[in-house]
Amino acid sequence: MGTIVQKFGGSSVADKEGLFRVARIITRTYDQGNNVVVVVSAQGDTTDDLIEKAREITSSPSRREMDMLLTTGEQISCSLLAMTIQELGYPSISLTAWQIPISSDSNYSNARIKKISAERLNRELDQRKIVVVAGFQGINKYDDIATLGRGGSDTTAVALAATLKADLCQIFTDVDGVYTADPRIVPNAKKLPEISYDEMLELATLGAQVLHNRSVEMAKKYNVNLEVVSSFRDLPGTTVKEEVIVMEKMLISGVAKDDHVARISLIGLPDVPGIAFKLFGLLGKKNINVDLILQSVGRDGTKDISFTVSSDNLEDAMQLLKEKYPDKTIEFNDNVSKVSIVGGGMQSNAGVAAKMFEALYNAGININMISTSDIKISVLIDREYSKQAVQCIHEMFFHD
Ligand code: ADP
Ligand code: ASP
Ligand code: MG
Repeated sequence: MGTIVQKFGGSSVADKEGLFRVARIITRTYDQGNNVVVVVSAQGDTTDDLIEKAREITSSPSRREMDMLLTTGEQISCSLLAMTIQELGYPSISLTAWQIPISSDSNYSNARIKKISAERLNRELDQRKIVVVAGFQGINKYDDIATLGRGGSDTTAVALAATLKADLCQIFTDVDGVYTADPRIVPNAKKLPEISYDEMLELATLGAQVLHNRSVEMAKKYNVNLEVVSSFRDLPGTTVKEEVIVMEKMLISGVAKDDHVARISLIGLPDVPGIAFKLFGLLGKKNINVDLILQSVGRDGTKDISFTVSSDNLEDAMQLLKEKYPDKTIEFNDNVSKVSIVGGGMQSNAGVAAKMFEALYNAGININMISTSDIKISVLIDREYSKQAVQCIHEMFFHD
């Protein structure tokens, strides 16, 4: 007998049919003699709908209240799923974060899980109950609810698997695995039978929403056996693990895009030591992550610095910078996207970057910024071309 954590995303539990389909997958795993812990996301578009409801009231809702609101979605789906499992004749109980408890830090809307107590979970499992946990939430030191960021239910699942030392953590979703690109954008993308934690972490961080990036980070840290599978079709999925056996050498393992970025430029900063430190230190203190950075060559004692932030942070970053640099020109562009390629194989292969840039050149797409590392290359381009960029880059690397 093993312990298996199964996570089902919003589209998998969107309606009654979905709930019953998912309940059958769960009870089959239970019938095989396993302890089963299930994590669910909010049904269908519930989270987006709740965000919209808040927007009707204010353009800048309190982050605490937002988290209070958004977590209701997962409370609905976990209770409905427990009922569905019971309806099939199996013992089940739903639990939210405070009942377990799952404690998190206090960074509302992007909290990190700090600790999960196994006691209650084990007590329910010992009674052979199927435990259904509300994903995406934690309780902070003020006894308030905090969410783990969009897509965070994956992280709840992996964290539970790590806590319970589960044999397997399965992420059931509406695709049957991790592909070389989002199959909605590149219909002939290839399914990867396996992918390393490191590559998956990059892909997820760079916009491949199939897994929440922190879930991959945690899976790597605790060596969780992680699998992405379809909840609609019984097909082999993708295994995410430390080492992958490379049958046929691929230059890259995937292409991803992130439309959720914005570029900020500060013009005419003094060309003296300490400017970058002060600027990025200021943003760091406010928890604003900076990604691609471009600094111009100094001329006439001044220089320009451009960088990207997540769209969510644009408003806060602009306000902060305007206060700190009142006499400087500060521009922003929120019509940009980051398109990236990821692959462990690119370290030893010169020319991968050139190949990516050639694909963009052939499509007439201009590059605004570039950043590279051992395992990824990212470019910033105008958002209107982001899909086309993914398609042409994918075609360049994966045509047969
Ligand atoms: P869930 O609601 O189950 O959490 P998500 O919408 O968060 O599902 O993630 C699944 C979606 O991720 C797929 O429908 C697919 O469009 C998208 N996706 C993006 N990049 C990839 C990729 N490289 N491989 C597979 N799916 C991807
Ligand atoms: N319901 C949340 C979201 O839509 C969490 C999740 O789906 O993982 O982002
Ligand atoms: Mg998701």
